[in-house]
Amino acid sequence: MKKILVTGATGQLGSELTITLRNRYGAENVLATDKKPALSEPGPFYCLDVRDMSTLNQVVESNNIDTIFHLAALLSAVAEQKPQQAWDINMNGLINVLEISRMHHCALFFPSSIAAFGTETPSMDTPQDTIQRPTTIYGITKVSGELLCDYYHRHFGVDARGLRYPGLISSKTKPGGGTTDYAVDIFYAAIKSQHYECFLRADTQLDMMYMPDAIDAAITLMTADSTQLKHRNAFNVTAMSFTPQQLAAEIQEHIPEFTITYRVDPLRQAIADSWPRHMNDSAAKAEWGWRAQFGLQAMVKNMLEKIALN
Ligand code: NAD
Repeated sequence: MKKILVTGATGQLGSELTITLRNRYGAENVLATDKKPALSEPGPFYCLDVRDMSTLNQVVESNNIDTIFHLAALLSAVAEQKPQQAWDINMNGLINVLEISRMHHCALFFPSSIAAFGTETPSMDTPQDTIQRPTTIYGITKVSGELLCDYYHRHFGVDARGLRYPGLISSKTKPGGGTTDYAVDIFYAAIKSQHYECFLRADTQLDMMYMPDAIDAAITLMTADSTQLKHRNAFNVTAMSFTPQQLAAEIQEHIPEFTITYRVDPLRQAIADSWPRHMNDSAAKAEWGWRAQFGLQAMVKNMLEKIALN
């Protein structure tokens, strides 16, 4: 990776990934793009809609881009409210980026999600290769994206690689309308008012990952020896798996007066109920050495420290 372009760079994942890539490869070598305004950090930024193929092509060509981290998307809860727009952004954006990767010989990172599974998928120890019949539009775009990336690799030799991320937890940028957003919101509420009203049921168990591990996973996969990759575009990766009740209990270890109540949002609960509880990520461990650094206890301690400093 010498000249990198990030789409969706001002979002939850993109804002922190861009900073890490700039620290590692030089700020001038990492172009942040988004349809939202620029990051506050110094470095090149283009205001760009991923559906605008001709501008995207021009930016990639004129900057000699060799690697694209394609993060721009509508997330699960927002997508369910705007399904046609979600298909347009998530699928047309991806095929544009794949075409550009084919034309300019770029490597491509595409983040899939636990949403790419569905109610017929085994929900515990979810295998790497298993039934995928998602019931949300977001999940449908993610499983289609995985297949499209495989197709571009097989037919056109595009070096496309990807991860099935669980819910991402971060202290820098607030999440953008996903079903696991509660696992970030709860920390801000715990510090500000020592109380949180959760939109998922107390016993809703889902896979999660702290942002430093999510960034490390993306960069480690993109720099891995390609001859060792059998699953390329959709590696299961996880770091921890917990319920809102278990997360609240861990926060109470640091803030004993913290309380949690539950007012279930039927839309997001139904989405969460269609996702796996805990994925098996042994293929990622075996093929490119994936290892998470943060479990529940370490993540909670670090989140509370970081948010208190913000
Ligand atoms: P986010 O919503 O915080 O950021 C997405 C960014 O994409 C936003 O800054 C938005 O402005 C931008 N965007 C939307 N439409 C665009 C368009 N047409 N053109 C250009 N930019 C556009 O999401 P995130 O959490 O940073 O997620 C990044 C990627 O990771 C997404 O593909 C998402 O599906 C995937 N992912 C996220 C999670 C999670 O928990 N956050 C989990 C699994 C997978």
